[in-house]
Amino acid sequence: ARLDHLYVHESVENVIPPEAFVEAFDHLDIPVDLVGDGESYDETDAVATYVPKPEFLDAGWVHCIRAGYDEFDTEAYEAAGVPLTNSTGIHDTTVSEVAIGYMVSLARLLHVYRDNQNEGNWYTPDYERPFTVENERLCVVGLGTIGQGIAERADALGMDVVGVRRSDESVPGVSEIFDPADLHDAIADARFVALALPHTPETEGLIGDDEFDVMRDDAYLVNVARGPLVDERALVDALERDAIAGAGLDVFETEPLPDDSPLWDFEEVIISPHKGSATNRYHLDIADLVSENVERYQIGETLRNRVA
Ligand code: NAD
Repeated sequence: ARLDHLYVHESVENVIPPEAFVEAFDHLDIPVDLVGDGESYDETDAVATYVPKPEFLDAGWVHCIRAGYDEFDTEAYEAAGVPLTNSTGIHDTTVSEVAIGYMVSLARLLHVYRDNQNEGNWYTPDYERPFTVENERLCVVGLGTIGQGIAERADALGMDVVGVRRSDESVPGVSEIFDPADLHDAIADARFVALALPHTPETEGLIGDDEFDVMRDDAYLVNVARGPLVDERALVDALERDAIAGAGLDVFETEPLPDDSPLWDFEEVIISPHKGSATNRYHLDIADLVSENVERYQIGETLRNRVA
Protein backbone atom coordinates (compact mmCIF):
# COMPACT_ATOMS: atom_id res chain seq x y z
CA ALA A 1 0.00 0.00 0.00
CA ARG A 2 1.08 3.56 -0.64
CA LEU A 3 1.02 6.23 2.03
CA ASP A 4 -1.79 8.80 1.82
CA HIS A 5 -0.88 10.77 4.91
CA LEU A 6 1.98 11.60 7.21
CA TYR A 7 0.99 12.45 10.78
CA VAL A 8 3.29 14.23 13.19
CA HIS A 9 2.43 13.41 16.80
CA GLU A 10 2.53 16.45 19.08
CA SER A 11 5.09 14.75 21.36
CA VAL A 12 7.79 15.83 18.90
CA GLU A 13 7.60 19.14 20.80
CA ASN A 14 9.89 17.52 23.38
CA VAL A 15 12.79 18.27 21.06
CA ILE A 16 11.69 20.30 18.02
CA PRO A 17 9.10 22.98 17.16
CA PRO A 18 6.18 20.94 15.70
CA GLU A 19 4.99 23.61 13.21
CA ALA A 20 8.45 24.13 11.74
CA PHE A 21 8.85 20.36 11.48
CA VAL A 22 5.52 20.01 9.60
CA GLU A 23 6.57 22.86 7.27
CA ALA A 24 9.82 21.06 6.51
CA PHE A 25 7.71 18.49 4.60
CA ASP A 26 6.24 21.08 2.19
CA HIS A 27 7.85 19.33 -0.77
CA LEU A 28 6.13 15.98 -0.10
CA ASP A 29 3.17 15.10 -2.31
CA ILE A 30 1.11 13.75 0.61
CA PRO A 31 -0.52 15.91 3.31
CA VAL A 32 1.31 16.26 6.62
CA ASP A 33 -0.66 17.07 9.78
CA LEU A 34 -0.06 17.49 13.47
CA VAL A 35 -2.07 15.13 15.71
CA GLY A 36 -2.61 14.43 19.41
CA ASP A 37 -3.53 11.23 21.24
CA GLY A 38 -6.42 8.89 20.46
CA GLU A 39 -6.49 9.28 16.65
CA SER A 40 -7.11 6.20 14.54
CA TYR A 41 -4.73 5.10 11.82
CA ASP A 42 -4.65 2.62 8.98
CA GLU A 43 -2.00 1.15 6.72
CA THR A 44 -1.96 4.19 4.44
CA ASP A 45 -0.83 6.40 7.32
CA ALA A 46 2.69 7.11 8.55
CA VAL A 47 3.39 8.60 11.97
CA ALA A 48 6.46 10.51 13.13
CA THR A 49 6.57 10.67 16.92
CA TYR A 50 8.70 11.09 20.03
CA VAL A 51 6.67 8.81 22.33
CA PRO A 52 5.08 5.43 21.62
CA LYS A 53 1.25 5.18 21.64
CA PRO A 54 -0.77 1.94 21.26
CA GLU A 55 -2.80 3.31 18.33
CA PHE A 56 0.35 3.71 16.20
CA LEU A 57 0.37 -0.09 15.79
CA ASP A 58 -2.49 0.33 13.26
CA ALA A 59 -0.46 2.62 10.99
CA GLY A 60 1.52 1.57 7.91
CA TRP A 61 4.85 2.80 9.29
CA VAL A 62 6.03 4.57 12.45
CA HIS A 63 9.12 6.74 12.78
CA CYS A 64 10.60 7.42 16.22
CA ILE A 65 12.27 10.82 15.90
CA ARG A 66 14.85 9.81 18.53
CA ALA A 67 17.92 7.63 17.96
CA GLY A 68 17.23 5.78 21.22
CA TYR A 69 13.97 3.86 20.64
CA ASP A 70 14.24 1.92 23.92
CA GLU A 71 10.75 3.09 24.99
CA PHE A 72 9.16 1.39 21.95
CA ASP A 73 8.00 -2.22 22.16
CA THR A 74 9.79 -3.59 19.09
CA GLU A 75 8.20 -7.03 19.55
CA ALA A 76 4.72 -5.52 19.31
CA TYR A 77 5.73 -3.76 16.07
CA GLU A 78 7.10 -6.98 14.66
CA ALA A 79 3.96 -8.89 15.67
CA ALA A 80 1.77 -6.22 14.05
CA GLY A 81 3.95 -6.17 10.93
CA VAL A 82 4.38 -2.40 11.23
CA PRO A 83 7.86 -1.16 10.35
CA LEU A 84 9.46 1.03 13.02
CA THR A 85 12.35 3.33 12.10
CA ASN A 86 14.52 5.58 14.27
CA SER A 87 16.71 8.65 13.84
CA THR A 88 20.12 7.03 14.04
CA GLY A 89 22.67 8.41 11.63
CA ILE A 90 22.04 12.13 12.07
CA HIS A 91 23.75 12.81 15.41
CA ASP A 92 27.38 12.42 14.43
CA THR A 93 28.07 16.16 14.52
CA THR A 94 25.62 17.40 17.12
CA VAL A 95 26.10 14.90 19.94
CA SER A 96 29.81 14.38 19.37
CA GLU A 97 30.50 18.13 19.58
CA VAL A 98 29.01 18.07 23.08
CA ALA A 99 31.28 15.16 24.05
CA ILE A 100 34.30 17.04 22.69
CA GLY A 101 33.16 20.18 24.52
CA TYR A 102 33.05 18.32 27.84
CA MET A 103 36.54 16.92 27.34
CA VAL A 104 38.15 20.24 26.41
CA SER A 105 36.38 21.98 29.27
CA LEU A 106 37.31 19.31 31.82
CA ALA A 107 40.93 19.44 30.69
CA ARG A 108 41.28 23.24 30.53
CA LEU A 109 38.87 24.05 33.41
CA LEU A 110 36.47 26.25 31.44
CA HIS A 111 33.65 25.03 33.69
CA VAL A 112 35.64 26.03 36.79
CA TYR A 113 36.38 29.48 35.37
CA ARG A 114 32.68 29.98 34.61
CA ASP A 115 31.75 28.90 38.14
CA ASN A 116 34.20 31.51 39.43
CA GLN A 117 32.99 34.13 36.95
CA ASN A 118 29.54 33.75 38.48
CA GLU A 119 31.11 34.97 41.75
CA GLY A 120 33.28 37.65 40.10
CA ASN A 121 36.44 35.66 40.98
CA TRP A 122 39.71 36.03 39.03
CA TYR A 123 40.61 32.41 39.71
CA THR A 124 44.02 30.72 39.58
CA PRO A 125 43.92 26.91 39.64
CA ASP A 126 46.67 24.70 41.01
CA TYR A 127 49.54 24.51 38.51
CA GLU A 128 49.13 20.72 38.15
CA ARG A 129 45.47 20.78 37.31
CA PRO A 130 44.99 21.97 33.69
CA PHE A 131 46.15 19.71 30.85
CA THR A 132 45.72 19.50 27.09
CA VAL A 133 43.53 16.80 25.56
CA GLU A 134 46.25 16.37 22.95
CA ASN A 135 48.08 13.07 23.52
CA GLU A 136 45.57 11.96 26.15
CA ARG A 137 43.93 8.59 25.62
CA LEU A 138 40.20 8.47 24.87
CA CYS A 139 38.28 5.20 24.86
CA VAL A 140 35.03 5.43 22.90
CA VAL A 141 32.65 2.64 23.90
CA GLY A 142 30.31 1.96 20.97
CA LEU A 143 31.46 3.04 17.53
CA GLY A 144 28.25 3.80 15.67
CA THR A 145 27.24 7.21 14.36
CA ILE A 146 27.99 9.16 17.53
CA GLY A 147 31.00 7.08 18.56
CA GLN A 148 32.63 7.57 15.17
CA GLY A 149 31.81 11.27 15.28
CA ILE A 150 33.56 11.57 18.65
CA ALA A 151 36.52 9.46 17.50
CA GLU A 152 37.14 11.50 14.34
CA ARG A 153 37.00 14.81 16.18
CA ALA A 154 39.15 13.59 19.06
CA ASP A 155 41.70 12.28 16.56
CA ALA A 156 41.77 15.72 14.92
CA LEU A 157 42.61 17.20 18.34
CA GLY A 158 45.59 14.87 18.60
CA MET A 159 44.06 12.52 21.15
CA ASP A 160 45.06 8.87 21.29
CA VAL A 161 41.74 7.23 20.44
CA VAL A 162 40.86 3.60 21.12
CA GLY A 163 37.41 2.04 21.02
CA VAL A 164 35.12 -0.83 21.94
CA ARG A 165 33.10 -2.42 19.19
CA ARG A 166 31.50 -5.79 18.49
CA SER A 167 33.10 -6.04 15.06
CA ASP A 168 36.86 -5.61 14.72
CA GLU A 169 36.50 -3.64 11.49
CA SER A 170 38.71 -0.54 11.63
CA VAL A 171 37.25 2.91 12.25
CA PRO A 172 38.85 6.19 11.06
CA GLY A 173 40.84 7.85 13.83
CA VAL A 174 40.73 4.81 16.13
CA SER A 175 44.13 3.20 16.72
CA GLU A 176 42.95 0.08 18.51
CA ILE A 177 39.63 -1.76 18.76
CA PHE A 178 38.71 -3.90 21.78
CA ASP A 179 36.02 -6.55 21.95
CA PRO A 180 33.16 -5.75 24.39
CA ALA A 181 34.37 -8.71 26.51
CA ASP A 182 37.65 -6.81 27.00
CA LEU A 183 35.99 -3.60 28.20
CA HIS A 184 38.23 -3.43 31.28
CA ASP A 185 41.42 -3.56 29.19
CA ALA A 186 39.98 -0.88 26.93
CA ILE A 187 39.15 1.61 29.69
CA ALA A 188 42.06 0.91 32.09
CA ASP A 189 44.54 3.33 30.48
CA ALA A 190 42.09 5.96 29.26
CA ARG A 191 42.02 9.55 30.54
CA PHE A 192 38.51 9.85 29.05
CA VAL A 193 35.89 7.11 28.63
CA ALA A 194 33.05 8.16 26.33
CA LEU A 195 29.85 6.12 26.05
CA ALA A 196 28.04 6.02 22.71
CA LEU A 197 25.96 2.84 22.98
CA PRO A 198 22.23 2.31 22.80
CA HIS A 199 20.39 1.35 25.98
CA THR A 200 19.66 -2.38 25.70
CA PRO A 201 19.42 -5.20 28.27
CA GLU A 202 23.06 -5.93 27.37
CA THR A 203 24.36 -2.40 27.93
CA GLU A 204 22.35 -1.48 31.03
CA GLY A 205 24.64 -0.85 34.00
CA LEU A 206 27.71 -1.39 31.78
CA ILE A 207 29.69 1.08 33.86
CA GLY A 208 29.47 0.31 37.59
CA ASP A 209 31.66 -0.23 40.65
CA ASP A 210 34.04 -2.64 38.90
CA GLU A 211 34.59 -0.32 35.96
CA PHE A 212 35.22 2.71 38.18
CA ASP A 213 37.80 0.64 40.04
CA VAL A 214 39.49 -0.30 36.76
CA MET A 215 39.50 3.29 35.47
CA ARG A 216 42.40 5.63 36.25
CA ASP A 217 41.78 7.86 39.24
CA ASP A 218 42.44 10.89 37.00
CA ALA A 219 39.94 9.67 34.37
CA TYR A 220 36.73 11.36 33.27
CA LEU A 221 33.52 9.64 32.22
CA VAL A 222 31.58 11.15 29.30
CA ASN A 223 28.01 9.93 28.80
CA VAL A 224 26.07 11.35 25.87
CA ALA A 225 24.21 8.09 25.17
CA ARG A 226 21.67 6.97 27.80
CA GLY A 227 21.62 7.30 31.59
CA PRO A 228 20.99 3.61 32.41
CA LEU A 229 24.33 2.61 30.84
CA VAL A 230 25.86 3.90 34.06
CA ASP A 231 25.05 2.77 37.58
CA GLU A 232 24.52 6.28 38.93
CA ARG A 233 24.91 5.25 42.56
CA ALA A 234 28.32 3.76 41.69
CA LEU A 235 29.24 6.93 39.79
CA VAL A 236 28.44 9.18 42.74
CA ASP A 237 30.38 6.83 45.00
CA ALA A 238 33.38 6.84 42.63
CA LEU A 239 33.36 10.64 42.53
CA GLU A 240 33.11 10.85 46.32
CA ARG A 241 36.04 8.51 46.93
CA ASP A 242 38.10 10.06 44.10
CA ALA A 243 38.17 6.77 42.17
CA ILE A 244 37.73 8.91 39.04
CA ALA A 245 38.32 12.63 38.50
CA GLY A 246 35.01 13.78 37.06
CA ALA A 247 32.36 13.45 34.38
CA GLY A 248 30.52 15.15 31.54
CA LEU A 249 26.92 13.96 31.53
CA ASP A 250 24.07 14.71 29.15
CA VAL A 251 21.87 11.78 30.19
CA PHE A 252 20.73 10.34 33.50
CA GLU A 253 18.88 7.40 35.04
CA THR A 254 15.99 9.77 35.82
CA GLU A 255 15.36 12.84 33.64
CA PRO A 256 15.06 15.64 34.48
CA LEU A 257 17.85 14.97 36.97
CA PRO A 258 16.13 15.11 40.40
CA ASP A 259 16.84 18.19 42.56
CA ASP A 260 18.34 16.03 45.28
CA SER A 261 20.84 14.24 43.02
CA PRO A 262 24.37 14.53 44.44
CA LEU A 263 25.63 14.90 40.86
CA TRP A 264 24.59 18.56 40.80
CA ASP A 265 27.18 19.46 43.43
CA PHE A 266 30.51 18.15 42.11
CA GLU A 267 32.76 20.84 40.67
CA GLU A 268 34.25 18.23 38.33
CA VAL A 269 30.90 17.15 36.88
CA ILE A 270 29.46 19.04 33.94
CA ILE A 271 25.72 18.51 33.51
CA SER A 272 23.77 19.33 30.38
CA PRO A 273 20.02 18.66 30.32
CA HIS A 274 19.89 15.97 27.58
CA LYS A 275 20.68 18.53 24.91
CA GLY A 276 23.26 16.55 22.94
CA SER A 277 21.26 16.83 19.76
CA ALA A 278 19.74 20.26 20.38
CA THR A 279 20.57 22.70 17.57
CA ASN A 280 18.44 25.12 15.58
CA ARG A 281 18.52 22.74 12.58
CA TYR A 282 17.49 19.54 14.34
CA HIS A 283 13.97 19.54 12.86
CA LEU A 284 15.45 19.77 9.34
CA ASP A 285 17.86 16.88 9.94
CA ILE A 286 14.99 14.68 11.12
CA ALA A 287 12.68 15.83 8.29
CA ASP A 288 15.33 14.92 5.68
CA LEU A 289 15.51 11.41 7.08
CA VAL A 290 11.71 10.99 7.27
CA SER A 291 11.26 12.42 3.73
CA GLU A 292 13.80 9.98 2.37
CA ASN A 293 11.86 7.13 3.97
CA VAL A 294 8.51 8.41 2.65
CA GLU A 295 10.02 8.24 -0.84
CA ARG A 296 11.42 4.79 -0.19
CA TYR A 297 8.08 3.58 1.19
CA GLN A 298 6.19 4.82 -1.88
CA ILE A 299 8.40 2.86 -4.27
CA GLY A 300 8.57 -0.22 -2.05
CA GLU A 301 12.24 0.15 -1.16
CA THR A 302 13.71 -0.94 2.19
CA LEU A 303 13.33 1.80 4.79
CA ARG A 304 16.47 3.42 6.18
CA ASN A 305 17.07 2.83 9.93
CA ARG A 306 14.48 0.11 10.28
CA VAL A 307 14.69 -1.23 13.83
CA ALA A 308 11.60 -3.50 13.85
P1 NAD B 1 24.08 3.94 16.24
O1 NAD B 1 23.07 2.86 16.12
O2 NAD B 1 24.60 4.59 15.02
O3 NAD B 1 25.35 3.39 17.06
C1 NAD B 1 25.26 2.53 18.17
C2 NAD B 1 26.45 1.59 18.10
O4 NAD B 1 26.54 0.82 19.31
C3 NAD B 1 26.34 0.59 16.96
O5 NAD B 1 27.55 0.60 16.24
C4 NAD B 1 26.14 -0.75 17.68
O6 NAD B 1 26.71 -1.83 16.96
C5 NAD B 1 26.89 -0.49 18.95
N1 NAD B 1 26.53 -1.41 20.04
C6 NAD B 1 25.30 -1.80 20.44
N2 NAD B 1 25.39 -2.63 21.49
C7 NAD B 1 26.71 -2.77 21.76
C8 NAD B 1 27.44 -3.50 22.72
N3 NAD B 1 26.82 -4.27 23.63
N4 NAD B 1 28.80 -3.39 22.71
C9 NAD B 1 29.43 -2.61 21.81
N5 NAD B 1 28.79 -1.91 20.85
C10 NAD B 1 27.44 -1.99 20.83
O7 NAD B 1 23.43 5.01 17.21
P2 NAD B 1 23.94 6.50 17.50
O8 NAD B 1 23.22 7.46 16.62
O9 NAD B 1 25.43 6.51 17.52
O10 NAD B 1 23.36 6.72 18.95
C11 NAD B 1 23.81 5.89 20.04
C12 NAD B 1 22.91 6.13 21.23
O11 NAD B 1 23.09 7.47 21.69
C13 NAD B 1 21.41 6.04 20.90
O12 NAD B 1 20.95 4.72 21.01
C14 NAD B 1 20.77 6.96 21.91
O13 NAD B 1 20.37 6.23 23.04
C15 NAD B 1 21.88 7.93 22.29
N6 NAD B 1 21.62 9.30 21.79
C16 NAD B 1 21.69 10.34 22.67
C17 NAD B 1 21.42 11.65 22.23
C18 NAD B 1 21.52 12.82 23.15
O14 NAD B 1 20.82 13.80 22.94
N7 NAD B 1 22.37 12.80 24.16
C19 NAD B 1 21.08 11.88 20.88
C20 NAD B 1 21.05 10.80 20.02
C21 NAD B 1 21.32 9.52 20.48
